[in-house]
Amino acid sequence: MTAAELASGAAALCDTATVYRSLHFLEEHGLADSFVLYCSAHGTERYYVSHNAVHRHWFHCEVCHKFIDMGSCTIAPMLGEVERKTGVLIHTHTLYTTGICPQCQEECQTTAKLN
Ligand SMILES: [Zn+2]
Ligand SMILES: [Zn+2]
Ligand SMILES: [Zn+2]
Repeated sequence: MTAAELASGAAALCDTATVYRSLHFLEEHGLADSFVLYCSAHGTERYYVSHNAVHRHWFHCEVCHKFIDMGSCTIAPMLGEVERKTGVLIHTHTLYTTGICPQCQEECQTTAKLN
């Protein structure tokens, strides 16, 4: 969810600035992950993911704009390889993918058949 969505949901409890401050606090203390994603419908937004111990990667559907959890990180070994090769020390990484979710693919096919 975006900070703006969270702010509108929490509007009764606190103001937008408080929400942003809290999110920033969570992120600084490693309790939340955030990433910036550009989408034709939402523009550029920063998304926050709570840190339930495991770092995860996300898929964003370009058609229905929902997020799909791609599961826990699978590229850590690859990053280890990069560290060995280049000598850099990687602390964090963000990875999200965009495309079309299974439901939207199905809908596309159904529409194509009808036409
Ligand atoms: Zn979709
Ligand atoms: Zn979107
Ligand atoms: Zn990862």
